[in-house]
Amino acid sequence: MSKTMDSTAMRQVNKKLVTQLIYERSPVSRISVSQMTGLNKATVSSLVDDLIRDQYVIEVGYGRSRRGRKPVMLEFNAKAGYCIGVNVQITYVTTVLTDLMGQIVHKHVRPIDFSQHQFSAAELKHILLTEIDAVAAKAPASPHGIIGAGIALPGMVNFETGLAYYLPNIEITEWDVCQALSKHLTFPVFIDNDGNCGALSAYRAHPSTPLVFVNVGIGVGTGIVIDGEVFRGYKGIAGEFGHMTISTIGLLCRCGNYGCWEQYASEQALLRYLQERGQMEASADLESQFAQIVVERAVQGDVHYQEALTTLGGYLGIGIANIANGVNPERIVIGGPIAAGAAWLRPAIRSVLRHRSILSNKDVEIDFAEEDAVVSGAARLCIAHLIL
Ligand SMILES: [Zn+2]
Repeated sequence: MSKTMDSTAMRQVNKKLVTQLIYERSPVSRISVSQMTGLNKATVSSLVDDLIRDQYVIEVGYGRSRRGRKPVMLEFNAKAGYCIGVNVQITYVTTVLTDLMGQIVHKHVRPIDFSQHQFSAAELKHILLTEIDAVAAKAPASPHGIIGAGIALPGMVNFETGLAYYLPNIEITEWDVCQALSKHLTFPVFIDNDGNCGALSAYRAHPSTPLVFVNVGIGVGTGIVIDGEVFRGYKGIAGEFGHMTISTIGLLCRCGNYGCWEQYASEQALLRYLQERGQMEASADLESQFAQIVVERAVQGDVHYQEALTTLGGYLGIGIANIANGVNPERIVIGGPIAAGAAWLRPAIRSVLRHRSILSNKDVEIDFAEEDAVVSGAARLCIAHLIL
């Protein structure tokens, strides 16, 4: 490698370091950036000049100083561009526009008719492009425009190759999502598993390690984050705890196995628990607001709905006890619309953990994610891979 290449590559590495630091610590002075990165003041000044010219960093007044001149403070420019995040679930697709600090500035939820859910890759592509275009049109003018779109998918996907191996509840196999969408868009596209997106979001909100995110939807998607990085395993599909067997003679899962955890701890299972109590028609199907309706009825005092949530919590607890025994996480976060039912889920999960997990795993921290954790994590894929 030539000397010129070396110094160019080194400058890129240093620029990333300075960008990350300003992003995480805004507002911060040049001298603090120099002290925290170990880079000399002249290098930091030159890199900051580049970032200011590109409008990723802005000067925001003066900081404090014990003596001498007050330092000029730097801040990452959240409005330098925008990201799109999409959360594809089986009964709805949520699409958001966020600024570069991850703040949601526009959100759209499109209900999907579950009874018509066996859609093809072409149909899903059409839905994704329609939603992305609609949200992109809401973006305010900015120096860099839309920098990218991140898509959370409920199944086995490879973040590196952009390939969806298998989306069990959508009946899609081996689909090159990024290539299919990129042809129609002017910005890059990233995909990841919904559990991984939720885990990244939960880690950013409250860093803890290892962290496990459990996304409860029609199925159960999970993600593991260790020291801020998603644990992906050998072929990129680690964390498919939704398909761990919890009953050898259990229900048939869409993945082909019997007794998978998601058959007992998902919205599908919750619907069944309500049907078994005579609270819903045997023919009733899931709809986009299902979890919200169940939680509302429980909050209003309907004992049957409260019991169904407690049953679901018990089964969530069984899987969580297994995960805790295997991973020994610092924190487990439950996401998806059903997280609003924490008042019934939490005690049921805790009770199972006390009986079925070992040592300190009995006391593992259990949190419930905010509503937009997965879709925010999807948008964050763009920031993480294009800016930081
Ligand atoms: Zn399965």
